[in-house]
Amino acid sequence: MTEKTVKFPIYLDYQATTPIDERVLLAMMPYLTTNFGNPHSVEHSFGWQAEAAVEIARKNIATLIGASHGEIIFTSGATESNNLAIKGIVYAAYPKKNHIITVKSEHECVLASARSLENGGFDVTYLDVDEDGLIDMGALEAAITDKTSLVSVMAVNNEIGVIQNLKAIGDLCRDKGVIFHTDAAQAVGKIPLDVEELNIDVMSISGHKIYGPKGIGALYLRKNTPILSLIDGGGQENGLRSGTLSPALCAGIGKACAIAGEEMAKDYQHVTELSIRLLSKISAALNNVHFNGCRENRYPGNINLTFYGIKSDILVADLRDIAISTGSACSSAKHKPSYVLEAIGLNKQEIDASVRIGIGRMTTIEEIDHAADHIIKRVQYLL
Ligand SMILES: *Cc1c(COP(=O)(O)O)cnc(C)c1O
Repeated sequence: MTEKTVKFPIYLDYQATTPIDERVLLAMMPYLTTNFGNPHSVEHSFGWQAEAAVEIARKNIATLIGASHGEIIFTSGATESNNLAIKGIVYAAYPKKNHIITVKSEHECVLASARSLENGGFDVTYLDVDEDGLIDMGALEAAITDKTSLVSVMAVNNEIGVIQNLKAIGDLCRDKGVIFHTDAAQAVGKIPLDVEELNIDVMSISGHKIYGPKGIGALYLRKNTPILSLIDGGGQENGLRSGTLSPALCAGIGKACAIAGEEMAKDYQHVTELSIRLLSKISAALNNVHFNGCRENRYPGNINLTFYGIKSDILVADLRDIAISTGSACSSAKHKPSYVLEAIGLNKQEIDASVRIGIGRMTTIEEIDHAADHIIKRVQYLL
């Protein structure tokens, strides 16, 4: 009877992207229609209106993370933010410093940026994670040398949802005089993050992971952090990222941040309840299931499960009216086994039996009940 109220297909892949919040779309519309001005046109009201929208958005982002608006740079997304943060800071510190530290379970764009630096002759340390997905603080401390310019450790992991101990990392980096960058694409707007309290120097944000539009992101850059630009031109964004901003996209990510600031506790509780509901149904019905990643330090909207004895790609394909994934959108596009699950100690067979289920603001109880029933039935069938 719940089936009648459920709209198909059911979306449970909130780590890949999120639906845009209607309120976000409404905030964007004027800048796609009548207020079409170039925000960098300073000579007429079309430009001023567009610029005002961009600056309000900048303030909204800053407010959500405890920063000041002058510390927010708009980018095309967290991929660009991560590239700018990692390469820009490392280039600025060279030749005095030539070493960075990151983690094996980072997002592909962080690891690819690090590998690109390595190819250019820089030294990179890739820290291990334990079976919970967390780094060892002793190992981080031991890896820092007087040649280290940057430590890049993500906030919430996009495959297993675990939250690194940002406060401890931030404190250590501050203590050692090393810049601390965090890829917070999955964390901003979902869990409280204050850049002052956590001693975060640089932070990457994505619009489409927080119910905003795709194609926009932001970089928080602490005042006076030395960095070089990657995109040169008209000198927008304090010379750090040239190119005409999209006021509509800026207004969208800004509104998404404003809503997240107001509704974070409510969203978190909603996602927690649905997550518990889904997990208890699945674990009551199946005894071949293992929960991946730390159970305590985590964002509850990201569930990663191994169903022993099945192939998850077959399960995911079979569940035609339920959108879940076998891993990150990037690695599933390349059909490569998850290096994140490998890093927490899963073997090939276990990795091939794992799925990620993402729950978010728009997920309903009916969707969860339906998804649980179908996943259980399908796993039992495939066993
Ligand atoms: C989605 C994601 C990115 C990439 O963000 P885009 O805005 O799509 O470029 C980077 N890091 C993490 C952790 C992500 O989840």
